[in-house]
Amino acid sequence: MTAGSVFTFRAYKFRINDFSLVAAVYEFVASGFCKVRQLLSTLVGNLTKQKFRVPKMNAIADCPTENELISKAKSGFQELFPGENPSIIASAPGRVNLIGEHTDYNDGFVLPMALPMTTVVIGNKAAVTDKCTVYTLSDAVGSNRQIIFTTPSIESELKPGEPKWGNYVKGVVANFPFKPLPAFNAVIISSVPLGGGLSSSASLEVAMYTFLESLTCVRATDLKQKALACQKAEHDYAGMPCGIMDQFISTMAEQGKALLIDCESMQGIYVPLSDPNVVVLITNSNIRHELTGSEYPTRKRQCMEAAAIMKKKSLRSASMEDLNTNKDAMSDVVFKRARHVIGEIERTQQAAKALQQSNYVEFGKLMVQSHNSLQNDYEVSCAELDELVAAALECEGVLGSRMTGGGFGGCTVTLLYAKYVQDVVNYITNKYSGNATFYIATASSGAHEIKI
Ligand code: ADP
Ligand code: MG
Repeated sequence: MTAGSVFTFRAYKFRINDFSLVAAVYEFVASGFCKVRQLLSTLVGNLTKQKFRVPKMNAIADCPTENELISKAKSGFQELFPGENPSIIASAPGRVNLIGEHTDYNDGFVLPMALPMTTVVIGNKAAVTDKCTVYTLSDAVGSNRQIIFTTPSIESELKPGEPKWGNYVKGVVANFPFKPLPAFNAVIISSVPLGGGLSSSASLEVAMYTFLESLTCVRATDLKQKALACQKAEHDYAGMPCGIMDQFISTMAEQGKALLIDCESMQGIYVPLSDPNVVVLITNSNIRHELTGSEYPTRKRQCMEAAAIMKKKSLRSASMEDLNTNKDAMSDVVFKRARHVIGEIERTQQAAKALQQSNYVEFGKLMVQSHNSLQNDYEVSCAELDELVAAALECEGVLGSRMTGGGFGGCTVTLLYAKYVQDVVNYITNKYSGNATFYIATASSGAHEIKI
């Protein structure tokens, strides 16, 4: 029985005799154990509706450690492949982008940091078959959790297909430079929420690539090539024309540091981010608006159009002055899109400088400007993200807050003084119309192999 469930049980017993005690226990559990959230809400809510208002849960989610993930994956592997022992473990983190949104595919700057949330791939060489079997332990992909395929060769290419999640794996296998690959069995487990804007997809790709490095003993000498191969997997196999940021940070992150990435030159500069007085708080709106899927390519096309009008290779080489000079030659929408990107590229460089100088107040201001620009000019925010940002900014101790990731749902990122975290979480929880999940992010290291 987990600690969480022990407390659930106790709260249930106390409830029978003393409602105020239930309330106190409930508050206590709420702040520490998000897993029991629904059960408690139901228990306390049903039985005490008339007595007091049940506070909304304000739990900061526990992130399982890498070792906990490994041990679950090992058990999963042994169940799925009885009699076999995994000999390879690889792990690669998700990320949160602090600032620099929708700039990567415009050759601009981004400033992400890797998260403690990670994807682990565990497995071995297949002994008696030429087929690869890969299984994911993530419920979020639905019931079709296994893919079986033959490693690619000149005669038979690996093709994308169903289930969709398998294409991230197949894409990496297809783009791995060493061929022929030996067949393998693998199990995937992840603590990065899928589709939440924290880049579970890149963490899966990079973890898979790292697994293949260990399997073949052929390791990338140039980490940029590794990141590019993973990006290509997402482009060609998952059909997502993403920039390089996610794969780059998942590959190259260092503990205690954010990474300013110049997406044009593919150079990165590490920026220290380990001051215990400030915290990076991620708030998952738990909302994902289903769009037609055309939003991302449309934005990309609008950016290219603006660059072409200004006769620039990309928006990276355009200034605000160039934009204003060419205002009449473009539609209002294209103008606004370009204004966001050009402004955001500038803000990101300023933010990296501010972080280097531990100027968190300045950093926070730039985050807010970034959010406003994404909301009004790039139009990729949504009511829920705006609500979360507004709530955060009403709190004492908050330095800045903004949506992070592609938009239309997903997460916000907030920079705040450490001592205010719980108050801020409580406040946002009660203000937000939905149910948010909170994570405290510490800048973590990039992809690595783990010895068994
Ligand atoms: P994000 O990268 O922000 O989490 P994406 O839409 O880019 O969101 O990628 C999410 C998709 O990546 C999932 O729907 C799934 O197809 C795939 N994926 C990510 N992690 C896993 C995993 N652990 N197991 C299986 N598929 C995964
Ligand atoms: Mg992704």
